[in-house]
Amino acid sequence: MSAYDTNNIFAKILRGEIPSHRVYEDEATVAFMDVMPQAEGHVLVLPKAPSRNIFDADPATLPALIATVQKIAIAAKAAFDAHGVTIMQFNEPPAGQSVFHLHFHVIPRREGVPLRP
Ligand code: IMP
Repeated sequence: MSAYDTNNIFAKILRGEIPSHRVYEDEATVAFMDVMPQAEGHVLVLPKAPSRNIFDADPATLPALIATVQKIAIAAKAAFDAHGVTIMQFNEPPAGQSVFHLHFHVIPRREGVPLRP
């Protein structure tokens, strides 16, 4: 597995070098809207601590991260009048990861509306 790349796009967003539509932030985590949403209200939740993915994440950072995922799932379900929420998380390219800073996808789902590819 490659080392963490401090120039990945989410690292730049976390440093404020690239704009994002932030919907939540606390001392350990950030959430912002996905630029290519797979459904209306698609949010990404990240730890501020640098980790490429689940394999190198510091276990001490994970409780705060999953707590933010839950907050965003509850808020996004209400805000987008959704019937459910899909939570996804990918690790390394064969599993679908394309940006190499650990993140969760939180996607509000409506009855009968498939995810966009
Ligand atoms: P992954 O496949 O789990 O790594 O997902 C990366 C996600 O980041 C994709 O859903 C992209 O649409 C999203 N993305 C890429 N660049 C940006 C950006 O600059 N702002 C917000 N989302 C982004």
